[in-house]
Amino acid sequence: MSLDLERVELIGQELAIHWKDGEETFLSLETLRRACPCAACGGEADAFGRVHRPPVQYLPGSFRLEGFVPVGGYALQFRWGDGHSTGIYSFAYLRRLASSANE
Ligand SMILES: [Zn+2]
Repeated sequence: MSLDLERVELIGQELAIHWKDGEETFLSLETLRRACPCAACGGEADAFGRVHRPPVQYLPGSFRLEGFVPVGGYALQFRWGDGHSTGIYSFAYLRRLASSANE
């Protein structure tokens, strides 16, 4: 299954993602930032499915979204208010994140 974006909107403190298959994903900016998949934030699970997160220092601007750019047609890269922008969020990861956040 290939995922494709229709459009992305920032609504207050939430990101609304509209997918081409008609699904909608809502994620709070805080959830999004805390799930940052870059190496420094340690968002990826190990071979046993466990996620080991190093302690991450968040700043007042950490949960403010400055902007985002599409990456290679399969992911979004967010730029945060504290200058952090190394996390590449694949579309599949964003969808998975939203379903686990809403459980
Ligand atoms: Zn990160």
